[in-house]
Parts: sequence; C-alpha cells; structure tokens
Amino acid sequence: MTDDDPRTGRVRCATHGDSAPAYVCGHLARGDGRAFFHADDDPGNPRPDAWCDACERLRVACGGRWTEEAEASLGVRLLCGGCYDGIRARVPSGMG
Ligand SMILES: [Zn+2]
Ligand SMILES: [Zn+2]
Repeated sequence: MTDDDPRTGRVRCATHGDSAPAYVCGHLARGDGRAFFHADDDPGNPRPDAWCDACERLRVACGGRWTEEAEASLGVRLLCGGCYDGIRARVPSGMG
C-alpha cells in the first residue's frame, strides 16, 4: 500500500516508510511478471521504469515503442523504491 504525495515526489509505504517513487507495470506490481525489463534511457536513475515479459512482447510488437496500446496494457503502478527493489530482486532480469 502506497500513498502518492505529489508535493514531495515521495511515497509513503506501510513497509518501507518514506521512499522515492518508482513505476512498474501492473503485472510486476501484482507479482505476475516472469521477467524484469527496465528503461535504459536514463543511466543516472537508480530505479528506471520497469515492465514484465508480457509488456515487453507487446512493446516489441508495437515496433519497440510505447504506443498508446502498449501503455494501456502496462497499467502502470506507482510503487515505493523499497518495493521496487524487492520485485527487482525476486524477478529474473529479462535484459540482455
Ligand atoms: Zn507487464
Ligand atoms: Zn515499500
């Protein structure tokens, strides 16, 4: 359970407390993702936007871009950074 606070750009998580925000697809957030992909256009971001194998297949089918259709199936969820780290540690990387 997270609470978005747009004034601070932080999220408050019942487990991790006050944390940096991170975005993942709804499947990863629910624990449904079988592989972990993430954006690599911002190497300075420790928690780039992430998505699962199913979303990656759709993105590739859409020409490797986040079209409206691909984004709609993402169902992006805001997570706390600690929860993001937990998912990343649990789900095998699909990158390279
Ligand atoms: Zn997904
Ligand atoms: Zn958390």
